Amino acid sequence: MGRAAHQAAAPVRRASAAHAAGPHGCAREPGAVSGPDLASYDHIIVACSFGKDSLACTLHLLECGVPPERIEWWHHLVDDEADVFDWPHVTDYGRHLADALGVKLYFSARQGGIVREMLREDAPTAPVWFDTPEGRVTMGGHGPRNTRRRFPQVSANLSVRWCSPYAKIMVADTALRNQARFHHARTLFVTGERAAESANRARYAAFEPHRSDLRDGRARRHVDHYRPVHGWSEAEVWECLRRHGVIAPLPYRLGFGRLSCLTCIFMSANQAATLRYMDGQRFAGLCAWERAFGCTIRRDRDLWALADTGEAFAPVLARPDLVRRALSRRWRGPVLCAPSHWQMPAGAFGENAGPV
Ligand code: SF4
Repeated sequence: MGRAAHQAAAPVRRASAAHAAGPHGCAREPGAVSGPDLASYDHIIVACSFGKDSLACTLHLLECGVPPERIEWWHHLVDDEADVFDWPHVTDYGRHLADALGVKLYFSARQGGIVREMLREDAPTAPVWFDTPEGRVTMGGHGPRNTRRRFPQVSANLSVRWCSPYAKIMVADTALRNQARFHHARTLFVTGERAAESANRARYAAFEPHRSDLRDGRARRHVDHYRPVHGWSEAEVWECLRRHGVIAPLPYRLGFGRLSCLTCIFMSANQAATLRYMDGQRFAGLCAWERAFGCTIRRDRDLWALADTGEAFAPVLARPDLVRRALSRRWRGPVLCAPSHWQMPAGAFGENAGPV
């Protein structure tokens, strides 16, 4: 669907993006709360999962006056071409939403995604690819050979919860460190962690030099890391989406509190029961891997036992049409609406099981 079609569905978009005053000040506004001088950056990148928090980051930037065409969404495909961890509709949904908001969208991934790394046996970690304005770049893949053959572990420690670094964080770092357009330039890298999500995230700084920063090096690569919604409540995040008429992504409408991987290792008992109900084949595949690895995702019980102690979310039972759309690789339906028609999704303020 082209942008014109989305605009017809949501005629308020441009006006809200440019003029809606959010509760959080922008550095460029008189009386600003905090935040960097957005106009001083050559590149503004939002690491966008298409979940509510990264969407709120984007909408906040628009409210601060950043033109949408200056914003790049970087979305990491955690599955690459596989169909195991991610919600199948999310990639195409993201394309439609980027088109509707007028932001650029670049994909990137670790080749083979989380599954290839999980099944790695006497082999190096796979290369990373990332899209750029000039085309796709592939790098790496020459590391030492060794064996993984286990799920990422449920932990805040990223060395054992390796899915986030291998499929997302290191992918973004590679893309930042290997594009000449970031040399002798100022780049703002924006992510959507909120302090209210976990004690671990509460310790993150709202603004700091990014890991890939090399402002004092020969390349003069200045990269700042900005978390504009770090101090926001969940209610403020949803209110921001409402102001802009961004329809809550499907997982929230199905009762999930977060848009993380469909098969996130942090899944609660209710999420496990929901996954087993709506996508039994995918669930059985995870259980088979637990047996093959001789190592379960959780230390205390396997996935099947976890699902036995939960209940499928009510919207999943009541809305097979939404479930079908969520499990389809093709997006169908609007992404924006008039704010007056906006509805709070069933998953809002509910279970928050997800990366800590
Ligand atoms: S959402 Fe869950 S499974 Fe996916 S990368 Fe993050 S922690 Fe890993």
